[in-house]
Amino acid sequence: LDFSSFNFETSLQEGLDAMGFEKPTPIQEKAIPVIMENKDLIACAQTGTGKTAAFILPILNKISKNGTSTLNTLILAPTRELAIQIDQQIQGFAYFLGISSIPIYGGGDGIVWEQQKKALETGAEIIVATPGRLIALLAGGKINLSTLEHLILDEADRMMDMGFSDDILKIVNYLPKDRQTVLFSATMPPKIRQFSMKFLNNPAEISI
Ligand code: AMP
Repeated sequence: LDFSSFNFETSLQEGLDAMGFEKPTPIQEKAIPVIMENKDLIACAQTGTGKTAAFILPILNKISKNGTSTLNTLILAPTRELAIQIDQQIQGFAYFLGISSIPIYGGGDGIVWEQQKKALETGAEIIVATPGRLIALLAGGKINLSTLEHLILDEADRMMDMGFSDDILKIVNYLPKDRQTVLFSATMPPKIRQFSMKFLNNPAEISI
């Protein structure tokens, strides 16, 4: 199997070629078709398996195909480092697609805060955020998530371990009910499955 079997939009396939991605990894092979079919998904995969591209690629393809230019995808990640890493991978592919993303995370200095607010005013199709900072922006009325179509949680187990469960549920309350939700986690203890049942709708489950 190679990437051409997903029938991605031409500009996304060009992005893959430019990035040197030839064959999908096992998690990509399993997750990409499910996400392309608009289904909710729980996926168990560790770092280094290609899990980031497994959710980024089908989302970019949908945005490109539908020509959506409003904010439609929120990716939640446990740390600033991971949020930046995900954002950079999106930028790598999205260069060819004219799709933009904004990383939103806490810490840093006032300049970072100002840059994030400015980027939000400009707008983007995708936001990659840590939960705490996003809650602050939502509470201040700085972000409108009413047009959201996709919610992705990356490293959900780590977000729970870091105490973000309540923040995540609060964020979900700001989102349209009619959306696709995808959860990635390195481990799948019962507490993750119980937690995910609060905001996923009849999810498919995959692990590698
Ligand atoms: P991740 O597990 O998402 O942290 O990805 C690990 C690394 O593998 C990243 O540097 C990706 O750019 C790279 N990668 C992911 N999928 C592929 C692929 N299908 N072909 C080549 N490299 C990949």
